[in-house]
Amino acid sequence: MAQEITLGQLKNWLLLYADRIIAEEEQLTRLDAAIGDADHGVNMRRGMEKVRERLLDGENQFPDVGAFFRSVAMTLISAVGGAAGPLYGTFFLRAATSPHNGERVDLPQFTRMLRFGLDGLQQRGKAHIDDKTMVDAIQPAVEAMEAALASGQSLAVALAAAKQAARLGMEHTIGIRANKGRASYLGDRSIGHQDPGATSAYLLFETAVVALSAPAPKE
Ligand code: ADP
Ligand code: MG
Repeated sequence: MAQEITLGQLKNWLLLYADRIIAEEEQLTRLDAAIGDADHGVNMRRGMEKVRERLLDGENQFPDVGAFFRSVAMTLISAVGGAAGPLYGTFFLRAATSPHNGERVDLPQFTRMLRFGLDGLQQRGKAHIDDKTMVDAIQPAVEAMEAALASGQSLAVALAAAKQAARLGMEHTIGIRANKGRASYLGDRSIGHQDPGATSAYLLFETAVVALSAPAPKE
C-alpha cells in the first residue's frame, strides 16, 4: 500500500514544530549562550511564529506541496536573523524543488525532498558531518529515511528511524569541536556543549513522527 503525506499533514507538522520551538526557546537560547551569542531561541521562535501566522491565515491557500515549502522558506529567510534562518530557509526552498504529486507526497518523494533540502543546506553552509552544526542531526536523519525506504519499511518506521538518528546526531555534537559558525571561534572550548542548531533540527524530526506517521485520511 502506497502511503502518502498530505499537504494538510505537512501544515500540521510545521504548526507543531512552531509549538515545540516556542516551548524550547529558553533551552535553545541557553545552548547558544554557551557557545554562540544566545539568540538561537529568539531567532527560531520569531521565524516559526511568522510561519504559524501565515499557515493560519485563511487567505493563504497553497496550491501544492512545493508552494507550501517555498512559503515556509521565504518566511524563515526574511524573519530569522542569524545563520540558522537562511540555512533552514534553504533547506525548505530546495526541498520544494524536488518532485511531488501536487497536494501529496509518498515516502520516496518525501525522502527525496529531505535529501534535496540537506544538499542545498550543505551547499550554502559548507558544513559536513562532525562540524558541530544542524547538519549533524539532519544528515543522519535523512540517511536513516533512505535506509528505511531501501529496505521497504513503512512511513511510520522510516520517520521513527529518522527521529532516533537525529537525536543521536544531536547528542554527538556535545563531544566534538565546532568547525563552522560562531561556535568555531571557541575552538576546543566548544567541546562539551550541545549544538543549538542540531537541537532545533532534532525537533523537526521529533514533530514529524507525531504529525506525519498516521496514514493520510482518504479523501
Ligand atoms: P548565529 O550563529 O548567526 O547567531 P543562530 O544562533 O540562530 O545564528 O544559529 C546557530 C546555529 O546555526 C548553530 O548552532 C549551527 O547549528 C548552525 N550553523 C551555523 N553555521 C552553520 C553552517 N555553516 N552550516 C550549517 N549550520 C550552521
Ligand atoms: Mg546565535
